[in-house]
Amino acid sequence: MMLKSYYFIRTKDDHGKFVVHTEDCVFLGEAANRTLIGLHINCESAVEEAKKISNETDFNGCFYCAYACHTK
Ligand SMILES: [Zn+2]
Repeated sequence: MMLKSYYFIRTKDDHGKFVVHTEDCVFLGEAANRTLIGLHINCESAVEEAKKISNETDFNGCFYCAYACHTK
């Protein structure tokens, strides 16, 4: 069991989604433009938490670091 810190980018991507990343992703971007979701065992759990804390529904996993949650 390996927990990682997850973040989402506060600016929507070209598909209208907030992209979720792990703490060690090279595409995480600048600290000023991301929100810490917290420690999670997988991206599914992180996305659920992101929805709760943001009251938003449009999330997508990063292709590189959260592929299991990546759609299209
Ligand atoms: Zn990523």
